[in-house]
Amino acid sequence: MLKDTFARRALTLKSSEVRELLKLTDSEDIISFGGGLPAEETFPVEEMKILCNEVLSENGAKTMQYAVSEGYDELHKIIAELMGEKGITVEPCDILITSGSQQGLDLTAKVFLDEGDVVLCESPTYLSAINAFNPCYPEYMEIEMDEEGLIIEDLKKKLNKNKNIKILYTIPDYQNPTGRRMSLERRKALMDVASNYDLIIVEDNPYSELCFDGNNFPPLKSFDTEGRVIYLSTFSKTVCPGFRVGWVSASKEILKKYILLKQGTDLHTNFFTQMLIARYIEKYDIKAHIKDNILIYKKRKDTMLDSIKRYFPEGISYTDPQGGMFLWVTLPQMISSRELLVNAMKRGVAFVQGSAFYPGGGHENTMRLNFSGLTEEKITKGVKILGELLTEELKK
Ligand code: PMP
Repeated sequence: MLKDTFARRALTLKSSEVRELLKLTDSEDIISFGGGLPAEETFPVEEMKILCNEVLSENGAKTMQYAVSEGYDELHKIIAELMGEKGITVEPCDILITSGSQQGLDLTAKVFLDEGDVVLCESPTYLSAINAFNPCYPEYMEIEMDEEGLIIEDLKKKLNKNKNIKILYTIPDYQNPTGRRMSLERRKALMDVASNYDLIIVEDNPYSELCFDGNNFPPLKSFDTEGRVIYLSTFSKTVCPGFRVGWVSASKEILKKYILLKQGTDLHTNFFTQMLIARYIEKYDIKAHIKDNILIYKKRKDTMLDSIKRYFPEGISYTDPQGGMFLWVTLPQMISSRELLVNAMKRGVAFVQGSAFYPGGGHENTMRLNFSGLTEEKITKGVKILGELLTEELKK
């Protein structure tokens, strides 16, 4: 009956195999490298208890009233300052607060994509960006990557091939899923190409604060003199994800469309959590907080890398991320990470098979491992199990 009633986008929606598998990994007994969870011990619970009280006492019912779609003014100012420290000149009024940067991705699709429009993206790319774009029926052209990020020659080839390209979606810093950081030369070259081809860039930047080696490169937005970069970021990885506070910054002409579409989506982002985050940054030292988080994440990454070196057999390559939350593994061609996952789950270990991150599928021999959300003990134990399974697999 409903078959004739549902819209095409609802009919074609499939529950992702990845999500279904990861649901099984919620149990404490499973060592899951599958999610992308920040470490809970980094969340400022005690500080927020105090701030909840303060914000409610000072603002009373205002914290519970409808509010403007653009977001909380004080938070706009704070974000403009934080972006300024990264070399991006932005006015507070050129920022829209979103319900996480995931909403920024959803709005991006609504603002730019009609059926058949082409999205250029890194290969592989963030799975939930694909999920946010898909309801608008775009096509994808995947740009090959190497250790320095997307390959400019391949980008040019694809730009010359297709006239229907609307946006380039990129995660230059500690990319999800590979953990790679785009080199400075590539950033500059990408901006030159964008200018020559009149290309709009969507820069998704949730991870740049989580830099392990103190060697962050300037965001693409900092080179943007033509209003062609739309910058998305979030407090999910620096404060906490559950408050759902992120933002979009773009030229006035573009941002206006985002604001209008947001109004139809959720009117505005939760004002109480916007106020809490603003007050948290005003009152406490967020830089010190992030430094502490980095120490935890770097240690976990090092543990994962050491364990891989120790327990994985020869012939497997992996990234050594200098920030973020993920490490990317490439297995020998004949090994399917899907099959490995089934066997790993039987031994209480989970991860995400790499093919999920390619809009066109394939690349069955890749996998993403998250290191931010697990203790070092669990990381070592889980990687050891994966190593044993891979050794068995290679003997076959
Ligand atoms: N973009 C990327 C690349 C991500 O990895 C994530 C979180 N996994 C998001 C966007 C969404 O983050 P949030 O909505 O929590 O801000």
